[in-house]
Amino acid sequence: MTDLFENYTSPWMNDELSMLRDAARKFFTTELAPHQESWEANGIVDREAWSKTGAAGFLLAEIPTQYGGSGGDYRHETVILEEQLRAGASGLGSQVHSQIVAPYFLHYGNDEQKQRWLPGMAAGTHVGAIAMTEPNTGSDLQSIRTTAIRDGDEFVINGSKTYISNGQHCDLVIVVAKTDPSQGAKGISLIVVEAGTEGFTKGRNLKKLGQAAADTSELFFEDCRVPAENLLGEEGKGFVQLMQQLPQERLNIAQAAVVEMERAISLTIDFVKERRAFGQRVLDFQNTKFKLAECKTEALIARTFVDQCLVKHMAGELDASTASMAKYWTTDKQNQIIEICLQLHGGAGYMDEYPISRMYRDARVQTIYGGTNEIMKELISRTL
Ligand SMILES: Cc1cc2nc3c(=O)[nH]c(=O)nc-3n(C[C@H](O)[C@H](O)[C@H](O)COP(=O)(O)OP(=O)(O)OC[C@H]3O[C@@H](n4cnc5c(N)ncnc54)[C@H](O)[C@@H]3O)c2cc1C
Repeated sequence: MTDLFENYTSPWMNDELSMLRDAARKFFTTELAPHQESWEANGIVDREAWSKTGAAGFLLAEIPTQYGGSGGDYRHETVILEEQLRAGASGLGSQVHSQIVAPYFLHYGNDEQKQRWLPGMAAGTHVGAIAMTEPNTGSDLQSIRTTAIRDGDEFVINGSKTYISNGQHCDLVIVVAKTDPSQGAKGISLIVVEAGTEGFTKGRNLKKLGQAAADTSELFFEDCRVPAENLLGEEGKGFVQLMQQLPQERLNIAQAAVVEMERAISLTIDFVKERRAFGQRVLDFQNTKFKLAECKTEALIARTFVDQCLVKHMAGELDASTASMAKYWTTDKQNQIIEICLQLHGGAGYMDEYPISRMYRDARVQTIYGGTNEIMKELISRTL
């Protein structure tokens, strides 16, 4: 595949991360990518993919070694995410598991909770999920109806969640629930529910427009009793905890968008160099060259901005508004660029056997989850 930016190195890269990149590229290309097609047909990855990835050391890279992680930081997570996507092995929900769910345990869990849950997540024997969205509310998180009412040493959870990534495979779910339903945001807490707990059931694996290998489910809680020790962080602080973690989640989605736009352009360059029409390469038409020149320029703008966000994030300075800008702009751009790239493939672009057709379907959700792009603009506009 054409290397799009051979002369560009991210300012945060170093030799150690380059070595990790090489190892991750090899692992995802040889061990996971060959299974992606069958996972898409099955609507879910094999369970073994999780333990294999854990054993290879590519889960929970930013979690300290004392809790089973690799003892790296968010740059390590970024390198792994980028190589997983470049390899076309997006089916494994490790982005949610490692880069979104595990940080909640790290930042808000007490030592006992971290010891109890993180090593299994690092090994891939325990899959993590986070359940915020409900059938009646997504963007308006304060209006969730799931309750977790304290009863002695337990919380009793009632309610339902939907569109939950890793919903079928999950062993641990961080459930966003109201511990005080009389309050809005101040009544929200995060509670960990383990699979197998009585009263917790997983619904069907939802069929989706894209990301076919990623399991996405409804989850139901009916008088589900969990010990009070499963509360993550302080009671009533759930909304604040979510707001604190969302910049990393949004940066993460933006990073995925950048990799996917780069990959789409590279694949398209390869294709139009080979494909011929009217006695010349498709690349030699001025329309093709100009379209790809625009795409390449925008992809570099996106990468530069997202790299800058990562540097800020590493310094603890990535604010919600800038992370929202990154998420909104790159995911919109990802969809636009992939659409152009698909068109340049002609009929082949519509065929499943060409990765660009799947990338087109998979990209669509990027402007929706992690907070819709309308919500991103709402957040940005608060700083005007
Ligand atoms: C594949 C997939 C995986 C997901 N994974 C997870 C997961 O793991 N965990 C989880 O909790 N959730 C998950 N979600 C849910 C996702 O985060 C929500 O779908 C998303 O936040 C939008 O919520 P909603 O679907 O309720 O849409 P709604 O909030 O009903 O929005 C409908 C439309 O109204 C617009 N809108 C809403 N409010 C405003 C406003 N104030 N101003 C302007 N426009 C507005 C929205 O932008 C949207 O266009 C996932 C979703 C998908 C599709």
